[in-house]
Amino acid sequence: MDSKTLILAIVPVILAGVFIHAVNAAIQQNKDGPRWWLAGTATHGIGLGLISLRGVVPDVFGIVLGDIMAAGGFLIMLEGAARFAGLNVPRWQLGGLAGVVVIGFPAFTWVVDSAALRFAVFGVAVIIPNLLMLSYLSVIGQRDGKPGVRLLRYTIYYFVGSLAVISVGVVLFDPDMPSVLAPNQLVAFGILSLIVVETNLVFGFVLLSAGHSAAVLRKAALTDHLTGLPNRRAFEAMVHREFGVMESADRQSALAVFDVDHFKQVNDTYGHDVGDAVLQHIADVLKRAIRDTDHVARLGGEEFVALIHAGGPASVGEIAERVRQTVEDTPFERDGKVIAITISAGLVEVTGDEPCLTRLFKQADMALYEAKDAGRNRVILAAA
Ligand code: GH3
Ligand code: MG
Ligand code: MG
Repeated sequence: MDSKTLILAIVPVILAGVFIHAVNAAIQQNKDGPRWWLAGTATHGIGLGLISLRGVVPDVFGIVLGDIMAAGGFLIMLEGAARFAGLNVPRWQLGGLAGVVVIGFPAFTWVVDSAALRFAVFGVAVIIPNLLMLSYLSVIGQRDGKPGVRLLRYTIYYFVGSLAVISVGVVLFDPDMPSVLAPNQLVAFGILSLIVVETNLVFGFVLLSAGHSAAVLRKAALTDHLTGLPNRRAFEAMVHREFGVMESADRQSALAVFDVDHFKQVNDTYGHDVGDAVLQHIADVLKRAIRDTDHVARLGGEEFVALIHAGGPASVGEIAERVRQTVEDTPFERDGKVIAITISAGLVEVTGDEPCLTRLFKQADMALYEAKDAGRNRVILAAA
């Protein structure tokens, strides 16, 4: 196999990648990663283009600059992955790797002319950034989900593994190879497998972007915009998950629906904007009053819901009462104005193996009406 032709064959693959990255970067303007992937891919592609022109153009381009750009492109892609994860590659790591590339290739061209050592420099300058990328991929996977991360991770394993085998093979079996483009079946195999890697990297990075967009939408669909609390849809999904694993026998649990008392008066007296701020305040108080193992959400309007579990000696009724008391004790304050807030709650115990959420909501609502009728600012437990 003719390595030079093979390298030339990678260039159109990368050109396609550049188009895809350019479109992706234009769509994802608010994220910085895609611009770095575009720049890294383009740099890497120009480097390979120069390498394939070896012998036609002066060595400073065909060897030194070509190798620097082909390897350096991976450093730029690494920084892109870090930025996409909301991080930066530590400067000493980037600086160290850039130093290996910028010093290594000229040194093993003009000081000691060794194609095998240049290949080793290339191996190091590609393997290390790819391995470093794995940790940023984990961060991205936890935030956005797995598809792009998986493709990139498996590609990196394949890339690093094959490159390591080839580098060791070259050093063992062909240490005096005249050029990386000389007929060498190991290197030719490496170049062929580079086509797989390049293609996967482009799709992997674009999948990361798609995964991120989907995660942003998913989050928006499950979050109440005003208060940042989970919305009803998120609450129901979460409760169903919890019902699935709940050991009904060993823990008392309850659904509590909270409704702000005389909230219309807050709007009428202070304006809708202050009403909104009061709802945000109540959401914060509820979030803090409810333990991490319990869940609170905004149902809509001035109604909130929580799934609470009895803890220690406190019954669910006592916990709901404590939440109500906390809201009463934490008035809303702004610009010297103090607005007293109280809430009423309807509480229903969750029992049985497969509790029906619709029925629980209905029972909690009825208890809530009772609490309103009885004068508000109280918790009523629905009759069993
Ligand atoms: P009660 O004690 O019987 O619950 O009286 P209430 O005034 O709280 O009940 P009502 O249902 O009459 O009023 C609820 C009010 O909540 C009316 C509506 O304008 C207001 N509201 C609902 N959603 C929002 C919101 O997102 N922002 C603001 N500022 N007000 C809201
Ligand atoms: Mg209401
Ligand atoms: Mg109300």
